[in-house]
Formats: sequence, structure tokens, C-alpha cells
Amino acid sequence: MDGPSGTGKSSVSRRLAGRLDARYLDTGAMYRVATLRVLRAGIDLTDSAAIGASIKELPLTIGTDPGHEIIELDGEDVSGEIRGDAVTKAVSAVSAVAEVRELLVALQREITYSAQRIVVEGRDIGTVVLPDADAKIYLTASAEARAQRRNQQNIDEGRGDDYDAVLADVQRRDNLDSTRKVSPLRPADDAVIVDTSELSKDEVIDELYRVVAHQITTSSPGGAR
Ligand code: C5P
Repeated sequence: MDGPSGTGKSSVSRRLAGRLDARYLDTGAMYRVATLRVLRAGIDLTDSAAIGASIKELPLTIGTDPGHEIIELDGEDVSGEIRGDAVTKAVSAVSAVAEVRELLVALQREITYSAQRIVVEGRDIGTVVLPDADAKIYLTASAEARAQRRNQQNIDEGRGDDYDAVLADVQRRDNLDSTRKVSPLRPADDAVIVDTSELSKDEVIDELYRVVAHQITTSSPGGAR
């Protein structure tokens, strides 16, 4: 499951995994943990070599139970901190560093191959991490719809109301993620593109379930692994 931020990808992926009786992997959370590590080490975000060196050993624990999130850095629960402003602002820079991607992609594959059935969510899953996935979806929505949802989430969670700033941040991250040299954000050639701008969450889940069921039954012999 790939796509830009603010499409509802995380909550939808988690719910889809529950419905498919599958595990769930949030690869964005992994890039966020790496970013937190870099920030805590006080590294200059323009210094790719220092970023690469600082995450050579990343004591990261990530759970795959769609109903229970576990995200730890060196044994400390960082599930809240990685969604904060500081990490959100820095994550595009850290995730553009080749060494960071190499390390995390290897870990993502290891986790995926040890699961029987798993929904993996990110930006480059269908194109780079798991090109042979049985089902590939690219979730998208207009920048305005995504900013509106994120702004509403901020209001609901007490972080204030600033649609223009949220829209600017959505556009800034889209631009960074889709123009970076390593693994730019784009749909895999064989991904089904689902636009969620006009759909409710329940409608998105139903649509995704249909798409995945169809892709799995028409994929190579062996079907769902
Ligand atoms: O999904 P989420 O918004 O938590 O991802 C945070 C950031 O991590 C993205 O903006 C992107 O820069 C990076 N990311 C990535 N590749 C992935 C998942 C996330 O580069 N597979």
C-alpha cells in the first residue's frame, strides 16, 4: 500500500489488515524512528554522511499486530514522539539518505517474509521493497482533501486549526518525496490506483478489500501466501 501522506493510508491499512486476518507494517514509522535518532544525536540534516553513520545501528522494535501498535527506540516507547512536529518536519530529509533506505528496506523485507500474510504500508513498497507483492494499491487524494483531513485531525487532537499551513506542509512533503533521487514516490506499474478524495473510510475499506481479493485470485499460482 503506497501513496502520499494524508490519504488515510495508515488507518485504512490497519483496518484492511484486520479484515484480511493479516499482520501490518507501518514503514513510515520506521523512517520516523530513524529521524528521531538523528535529531536526538543533534546531527545537521544536510549532512547525509553523518546521518548514514548515525543509524548504522538502529535499536528499533516495531510490532506487526494491526490492533496494537509497538514502536520502540532502544526499548523506549516512541510511538507518540515520532508523530510530533520535529520529526514530521525532518523525516523527508532523513528518508532521502541512501544508507537509511538500505537499512530499513532490508528490515522491512525481513519482517515481511517472516509473516504469512501482511499489509505493508509506505511510499516505495510496490516499486522497491516488495516488487513481487501479490496485491499492490496506490492510495491517493487531492492535496486539498488530504490537508483538510490532516487539519481536522489536528483540531480533534488539540493541535490547533491552520488549514493553509497544513496544505503548504502536505505540498512540501509531496514535492520532496516525489522528486528525491532514491526511491521517489510513484505508483508501481501494476498497482491499482484508488482515489479517496470523495470516499468515506468505510467505502475505502470495501473498495480495497475488493481490489485485494481480485488481485490475489488473479496473481501467480499459489495465490495468497
Ligand atoms: O507515512 P508517514 O507519513 O508516517 O511517513 C513519514 C515519511 O517517511 C514520509 O513523508 C516519507 O518521507 C518517508 N517514507 C519513505 N518511504 C516509506 C515510508 C515513509 O520515504 N516507505
